[in-house]
Amino acid sequence: KQKQYEKLKELPATTRDGVEITLQINAGLIVDIPNIEATAASGIGLFRTELQFMVAQHMPTTAEQQALYTAVLNAVQDRPVTFRTLDIGGDKVLPYMERVEEENPALGWRAIRIGLDKPRLLRAQLRAMLRAGAGRDLKIMLPMVATTDEFRRARMIIRREQAMLEKQGVAPPSDLRVGVMVEVPSLLFELSEIAREADFLSIGTNDLMQFLFAADRENKRVADRFDPLGVGALRALRRIVEAASETGCPVTVCGEMGGKPLETMALIGLGYRGFSMSAASIGPVKAMLRALDVRKLRERMDWMLASPEGATSLRPQLAAFATEF
Ligand code: PEP
Ligand code: MG
Repeated sequence: KQKQYEKLKELPATTRDGVEITLQINAGLIVDIPNIEATAASGIGLFRTELQFMVAQHMPTTAEQQALYTAVLNAVQDRPVTFRTLDIGGDKVLPYMERVEEENPALGWRAIRIGLDKPRLLRAQLRAMLRAGAGRDLKIMLPMVATTDEFRRARMIIRREQAMLEKQGVAPPSDLRVGVMVEVPSLLFELSEIAREADFLSIGTNDLMQFLFAADRENKRVADRFDPLGVGALRALRRIVEAASETGCPVTVCGEMGGKPLETMALIGLGYRGFSMSAASIGPVKAMLRALDVRKLRERMDWMLASPEGATSLRPQLAAFATEF
């Protein structure tokens, strides 16, 4: 199998009927970088910056953060990298940071919420990113955004940091894009606003499914209770890709769902064309999509979603479709 994927590496990520799919990897540490070459991925679609913080004994300084981001940008050369700002809090605890006890950490004070309330840490991180991205293309992504207003406030902070750096003589990025993780269901009801205002969207299916179904992603008893290939979840995911294409806002999927061949197939059927996944998933996903007839799948899925005939999960039907090609 591994050998088979090795051969696939040189081949384009194009479906049988000629639809191009973008495959990027998720990363977070410098040790992940060789995975780009190893998989021939087209970039890093999700760089989880909290990993540097989680493995450190002390709060990484702005200089240390900048050093990591610079090393990553140098290593990928002209491939794109999407840096996600800190997604800490909740279950991602930093040993050297004061901890707040919460009843429901996943629903608590985490990620962009901390960033907006106590922007010191977020601002230091943004400076590290903007310095590392001076004169280059830079993509910054915001986690756990629940309203368009939160996005606007975070983008304002980014603009302010950038203006300050420019005053200090630091060159701006040649192209700065600020995007949003779609992983809190409330954003699904502000899709037209967020798709119009954000430079790109990336769907965090791990959290989106957790919150959509109110089922803790870490709790074995309930984590697998609801199927992301269920009618409800697929319709939600279709709404997002439709809203994004209506406004011309680029959208990718960076959650675990996008790394499983059958799930990725379904997402392609809904209209998704870009995925970021763990490096190990690239081979299996590429093998699937190169055999796929998107037009046929799309027709089949439109039909399945219009008349699910009592079926709550489309998994069996999608699996049956997958054996036809
Ligand atoms: C997600 O929620 O799907 C995601 C990609 O982010 P994380 O797994 O880091 O929460
Ligand atoms: Mg998430």
